[in-house]
Amino acid sequence: MSTTPQTTVTLESRFARELEELSVPWRADDVADPRLLVLNEPLAAELGLDPEWLRSPEGARLLVGNLVPAGAMPVAQAYSGHQFGSFSPRLGDGRALLLGEVVDAEDHRWDLHLKGSGRTPFARGGDGLAAVGPMLREYVVSEAMHALGVPTTRSLAVVATGRQVRRESLLPGAVLARVASSHLRVGSFQYARATGDLDLLRRLADHAVSRHHPQAAEAEHPYLALFEAVVAAQASLVARWMLLGFVHGVMNTDNTTISGETIDYGPCAFLDVFDPSAVFSSIDHGGRYAYRNQPVAAQWNLARLAEALLPLLDEDQDRAVSLAEGALEAFPRQYSAAWSAGMRSKLGLPGDLDDEVAATLVDDVLVLLQQNHVDWTSFFRALGGTARTGAHAARDLVLDLPAFDAWAERWRAAGPDPDVMDRVNPAYISRNHLVEEALASAVDGDLDPLGRLLEAVTSPYEERPGLERYAAGPPDDFGAYTTYCGT
Ligand code: AMP
Ligand code: MG
Repeated sequence: MSTTPQTTVTLESRFARELEELSVPWRADDVADPRLLVLNEPLAAELGLDPEWLRSPEGARLLVGNLVPAGAMPVAQAYSGHQFGSFSPRLGDGRALLLGEVVDAEDHRWDLHLKGSGRTPFARGGDGLAAVGPMLREYVVSEAMHALGVPTTRSLAVVATGRQVRRESLLPGAVLARVASSHLRVGSFQYARATGDLDLLRRLADHAVSRHHPQAAEAEHPYLALFEAVVAAQASLVARWMLLGFVHGVMNTDNTTISGETIDYGPCAFLDVFDPSAVFSSIDHGGRYAYRNQPVAAQWNLARLAEALLPLLDEDQDRAVSLAEGALEAFPRQYSAAWSAGMRSKLGLPGDLDDEVAATLVDDVLVLLQQNHVDWTSFFRALGGTARTGAHAARDLVLDLPAFDAWAERWRAAGPDPDVMDRVNPAYISRNHLVEEALASAVDGDLDPLGRLLEAVTSPYEERPGLERYAAGPPDDFGAYTTYCGT
């Protein structure tokens, strides 16, 4: 007699069924001894999954893809991508699987996706695996971003596989269970377009409209409206990154979502001192994805999306190009508006303050921070204290005191609101040195530092006694920070 596994999880397969050409049915590698390292209980609850069951041996088997709920159809997704400007027609999930979609109590559909689950037909030269350190890194940074209010993929769990992964040395292996409103990317559209199958491209666009931008379906021109919605979502997303000093590090078109969620936390980092030219990734030699280049990189990626969509925009391709160009022109305007509004809030400037005065205060503080190598996060948080009590903590971070005093006099005259500032200027971010410290301990078997870091960064705006070291910049000996992509 055959028995179906009893699980509390139901997974749907809308992507796999509606867009069969964009995936390959696949199974995860067997993991003999899965060991749960970290589970996101609040997220599990939001998804309607039972955290207690996820902690059971059966739950761990689900989280590495070895227990496939009845009716689920795990797939590796196909996509293309411009990587550092050059086009690869066939990337796809080389070491990842879409297990299926969870539909929550509010009828929202969430991808449940695994990373590090073994080689797939898209693996090319890769081993299909992932190491504990980088998967925990994605877990902590993505959860920090979520708590900061930035649209992002989420992390449900990291499970150690007990298997060794060969990188520069042998490392313990892991699988990350990731949750996203979908994994549709600019690269998904590039792939569909490259097949030459316009019906597939149209079905992909319809799927994207229905899952992410349903209002576009009501527009006179739904596919143009879809493109406009993605432009707006990305403009807002990248502005959020810039306001927080976040450097994504690998803004390839396969890492640019249609939903407007941040995805892929491989080589990302946060600025400590404010330096617009900051680059952390070891492979970004030309600084293509440097902090200050991120808005331009996003717009470039959106132009690639427009190219993929052209056949849907108008039969007359010249007209399609001009429609796409018109829509893309909104990006710099939307980005600048989001950035300016965000900087006004960071400085606590009242809504009725003259735009010109506000813009000058913003421009001047950026020059001050850059010239004095001031820590971005600490400065703005401390400045809230200055607005509230006149405290000197922000001033103490600046070497050129006369320059600070001159600026601060003008700023104070504008009447900054400290409550607004404390709501947008985090005390705790997943600082590079803290992440490295937590990961090093975790790989050695001590998960406590990771737990404490998570506690700090998942309530980033609420300053709490005892967490001072999580608010401070890096120690002097931390040095230049380098992140690695080939994780
Ligand atoms: P990423 O830089 O993580 O966005 O990955 C770019 C591409 O490389 C994607 O197609 C990944 O699936 C693939 N990839 C990255 N690491 C591996 C690996 N260890 N094994 C197989 N494919 C990989
Ligand atoms: Mg990727």
